[in-house]
Amino acid sequence: MPLRNRHHSVNHFLDLFGDAMKFPLHLESKWGGKRYNSFNRVLKGTFAARVHKVGVRMDFTCPNRDGRVATGGCTYCNNAGHTPRGFHPGMSVKEQLEQGTEAIRRRHRAEKFIAYFQSYTNSYGPVSKLERLYREALDFPGVVGLAIATRPDCVPDDVLDLVAGLARHTYLWLELGLESMHDKTLQWVNRGHGLREFLDAVERSKARRLRVCTHLILGFPTESREEILQTPALLNRMKIDGVKLHNLHVIKNTVLEQIYLSGAFELFGREAYVALAVDFLERLAPEIVIHRLTGETYRELTVAPDWSINKIGVLNAIHEELERRDSWQGKACAERSVMGLERTVQVGTEAVTP
Ligand code: SF4
Repeated sequence: MPLRNRHHSVNHFLDLFGDAMKFPLHLESKWGGKRYNSFNRVLKGTFAARVHKVGVRMDFTCPNRDGRVATGGCTYCNNAGHTPRGFHPGMSVKEQLEQGTEAIRRRHRAEKFIAYFQSYTNSYGPVSKLERLYREALDFPGVVGLAIATRPDCVPDDVLDLVAGLARHTYLWLELGLESMHDKTLQWVNRGHGLREFLDAVERSKARRLRVCTHLILGFPTESREEILQTPALLNRMKIDGVKLHNLHVIKNTVLEQIYLSGAFELFGREAYVALAVDFLERLAPEIVIHRLTGETYRELTVAPDWSINKIGVLNAIHEELERRDSWQGKACAERSVMGLERTVQVGTEAVTP
């Protein structure tokens, strides 16, 4: 059914049943007053303590840079954008965690940490090397889990077996970059893989009962709003456990910077992004954990948009828009379920005892 007609039907239903679609009290209480299933809340529920991620950068590269898949990398990529401050080449996992946890202890008084292998492709190497690095992180005092960011074409079975073995004893998220479900966009950004590789990686990861978080970028000029909003249904069907959303932003020293400065495309304004993020959340199953809703990097590396530097401002605007609509994550799933148009799917487990 076209989206407009479906909304008409939903509105007709709401006219008949009034308060049936108010923000459900059980979700309000489960989500701590937020209108979406936030990762912070899940961490608090799981560990009964403040838990912070600490970025770690190792000497990984990326098959999209070293020629195995392509050279040049994704057009938006500059790994300096998520390299921890104070990092210098040659630092061990332990040295980086000492530095990172100390800074977080001072600022946030957190005592528990998730070691976040974030820069480049963190499963691109021999299994013996990966195991040594992941275990070094897990052995660090206060580290209660791992987050491993990688590409869907870099998780062969032996790597997934290693990660699944670790996940039996620790709290672990495998973060798979998809960025867009549309191959035309993945080609536009020189991503070097398609949707097919993502579907395969998710299927093999879920078969090993891994928690999978998916990275997505909203706002590529190659996609219409309707195309972007096809993604939640795919994630719901795949039983993805977590999602990271961010707006398309342009970072210095990237191919995307050159394309953007040539005037070839425009970026979303803040209001348009906020509306789209809320539209996306409404269609996403409530069981999916929201790890991030906006993207930002260091101010000195940001070309545009200016508004994305103010992360708190964007988050507040998303919260306000959810309130204004009296909406919440999964509201559209619930409407479809109530009306018998489509069954709401049960997705993943959100808080597993570490
Ligand atoms: S896959 Fe990741 S690390 Fe590799 S080029 Fe793309 S964004 Fe950069």
